[in-house]
Amino acid sequence: MIKQVGDTQIREKHLASCHCGAVVLELYLPNGIVNPRRCNCSMCRRRGAIAASVPLAGLKILKGQDALRQYQFNTCTAKHFFCGNCGIYTHHQRRSNPAEFGYNLGCLEGVDPFLLGEIPVCDGVNHPSDHKATPTN
Ligand SMILES: [Zn+2]
Repeated sequence: MIKQVGDTQIREKHLASCHCGAVVLELYLPNGIVNPRRCNCSMCRRRGAIAASVPLAGLKILKGQDALRQYQFNTCTAKHFFCGNCGIYTHHQRRSNPAEFGYNLGCLEGVDPFLLGEIPVCDGVNHPSDHKATPTN
C-alpha cells in the first residue's frame, strides 16, 4: 500500500486523466496505491504502463465516457480502455480478477511513477487463464 509518491499524497478520492484531458476518472483509493505492477504480456510490454488495482466500484468516469475506446484480444475477457483522442491507456477491467479495474498509475494527478522505484512484474505471458499457452498472449 502506497500513500505518498514524492510530494503527492494519495487522496481517498484521487483524480486520474488521460493526456489531452478528455477522459477524467475518479479513483477511490482509501488504501492508497494497491498492487502496482508491470506486466510482460504482449499488450503491456508494448504500452509500458504501471497498473494498480481498484474494485469495480472504486472507479468512476467523471468525464469522457464518449471519448473512451475499448480494445480486446486473445480470450477477450479483459477490457482495455484508452482515450480515442490522445491514445493514452487509462484503465482496464482485469482478466485475472474481473471484479477489479486496473488503472494507469501514470494518469494519477501529481504522481510521477518513476519515483516508485522497482515495480514487480507480473508474468502475463504465462497467464493462469491460458491453460494452454497461446501465441497471441
Ligand atoms: Zn485523451
